[in-house]
Parts: sequence; structure tokens; C-alpha cells
Amino acid sequence: MQSQVSDRIRRTSAGFTGIELFWGIFWLGCGIAGALVLAEYVGAIGYPIGFVSGIAVSYGGPRLVIAGLDWWIPEYPPCRCGHSGKSNYKFEGWRHGSQLLTCRNCGRQYLKKVRSFLQVNPDGVARPYLMHRPFGRWQHVSETN
Ligand SMILES: [Zn+2]
Repeated sequence: MQSQVSDRIRRTSAGFTGIELFWGIFWLGCGIAGALVLAEYVGAIGYPIGFVSGIAVSYGGPRLVIAGLDWWIPEYPPCRCGHSGKSNYKFEGWRHGSQLLTCRNCGRQYLKKVRSFLQVNPDGVARPYLMHRPFGRWQHVSETN
């Protein structure tokens, strides 16, 4: 359910075909650049090798960066019970612009905002649990705040 909804949002707001076209031209350009640069050094054999590796680097590079960022700042931080990852949480709906999530392991509920993660107590009161600064990692919010 939740992935269907977010996929639909992503597709309509990102301009799917425009993005694809952009990346296609970008990869092709990197392939051609790789071919020309490598051929300068090793001769004609550099064209196919440089073309393929240029595309591979430009295709894989951004994905590695995204994967690294996701490791550094996971979109879904760990629950208090230690379980983490998107698949650990059940999406219950939206509450005031935040995602209401339930941990599949222990049943704790959280509100997920862009940079903060609030735990919803059984009485319905949400208290800050984790937050992160831009490009910082998730950090515990001290209970006194
Ligand atoms: Zn849990």
C-alpha cells in the first residue's frame, strides 16, 4: 500500500519521462566522453571499453551515492526495539503531514517527518524520539527537551 502511494506521487511530481530522457542523454554523454578519453591513451580499443565504462560509472555513481546516503541517514530510523528499515514499519496513514508508522515487531507507533521521528505514546501524545540535522545522522532527542 505505502509503496504504491509513494510511487504514484513520485511519478506525477517528478515528470517521469523528462527525467528518463535527461538520464539517457547524460549516460550517453558520459559513455562518449569515456570513449574519447580512453582512446586518447590506448588507441581504438579504448572506444568500446571507455564507452561502456563511462556509462557504467555515470549510471552506478549516483546510485552508490544514494545508497551511501541511505546508509548514513536511513529514511526509516530504527525503532526503540532495535528493528529498522522501511519494511519494519506499517504505514497507517497521514497525520498533520507526517507518516503514522507502526513497528511490525513491537507495535510502537511513530510519526515520521522529514528530519524528526516522534514516538506516539498509547495515550496519543507524540514525543520527539530521533532527529537529524541536514546531512547529519539520526540522533536521540534528550528526554528533557
Ligand atoms: Zn519496534
